Formats: sequence, structure tokens, C-alpha cells
Amino acid sequence: MGRPPTNLHADVAEVLLDEERIRAKVLELGERISADYAGRELTLVSVLKGSLPFMADLMRAIHLPLTIDLMEVSSYGGAATETSGLVRIIKDLSASIDGRDALLVEDIIDTGLTLNYLLRYLRGKNPASLRICTLLDKPARRLVEIPVDYVGFTIPDQFVVGYGLDYGEHYRNLRYVGVLRPEVYST
Ligand code: 5GP
Repeated sequence: MGRPPTNLHADVAEVLLDEERIRAKVLELGERISADYAGRELTLVSVLKGSLPFMADLMRAIHLPLTIDLMEVSSYGGAATETSGLVRIIKDLSASIDGRDALLVEDIIDTGLTLNYLLRYLRGKNPASLRICTLLDKPARRLVEIPVDYVGFTIPDQFVVGYGLDYGEHYRNLRYVGVLRPEVYST
């Protein structure tokens, strides 16, 4: 996992999305989702830990009755910046989504392997519908084609941290999304 960072902000080479842009986008997504799911039985399913800030903000931007559930999966271990394609469920859903409209809330889609696995898993739980909402989309490295219904921002192929996203479990508490200085993960 490496040494803990001494100065979070100093390790960031570039702020890609500042707090204000993220806030505006989350409100916009909340409005769209509220309109699309009016009168339905919405359950937001978020994937820990990276989606935590997005989930917390998005659920409050949706003005419909809804329930939430949390899963945790690991797609790769420790400080690696590459996806292995191996997915392990660490925490499963705590309630049934049978017959409910499930919306999977993701932090970032990179290769799509994690999401592909999760979609197959959740489809097996018989939701009335299953859609995807991701804050960030990195289409450059996609290995599996996945229809994503709600996308916050499409970003270039760079390793980003902040607003939930980590490097070696750190940087999740940054209020913005930024690109780490390469020397941070090459040492
Ligand atoms: P995928 O399976 O789509 O390749 O990867 C999804 C997961 O990989 C994300 O949920 C996230 O945990 C991690 N990931 C992918 N790209 C990035 C990135 O740029 N920064 C960080 N911190 N994690 C990433």
C-alpha cells in the first residue's frame, strides 16, 4: 500500500473536475433520474468504496422515494493501477431487489470488467429494471461494451483520484477529481 501521503494536494498534478463542476453535474443527473423514475420503485445500489461520495450526493439530488443498498467488490489489490478482471464480492446486497427498479451507482468505468460482472450478478436477482449511472467514464480502455444510461463526465485515459477514488486507499477525501503526479505511483 506504500507510505501515506504527507500532502494530498501537492501530489495532484492537475485538477480535472473541481468541486463546483461535480456539484452541478450531480444535480443535473439527479433531475434526470427523478424524471425518468417518477412513480417507480427505485433502489440505488452503490459499489463501495469509491462511489461513496457520489452516492451520498446523488441520492440527495433525487427527489423521489427510494431505498439504497451497498455492495463492495474488489477488482484489483492494493496500489495497482491496472485492472486484472478478477472480481470478488466482499459485501453483498442486504435486501432483495426482486421486482424493483435498480440503478447501479458507480464511480468510474474503465475496462468495464467490474461492471460487466456486477451486471450479470444483479440481473440474476430479478430486478424489474437495471440501469447504470457512473460519475466518470474512461472509454479509451473499454474491453466490454456496456450500455451506460447516465454518465457524469467522460475523461481521458489518465489515473485519477479524489471524490471517492483512491490510490493505495488514500486521496478518497479530496473534494475534486485530479490526476496524480506520476512520481507518486512510480516510487
Ligand atoms: P474496470 O473494471 O471498469 O476496469 O474498473 C473499475 C474500477 O477500477 C473502479 O471502480 C475503480 O475502483 C478502479 N479504477 C479504474 N480507473 C481508475 C482511476 O483512474 N482511478 C482510480 N482511483 N481507480 C480506478
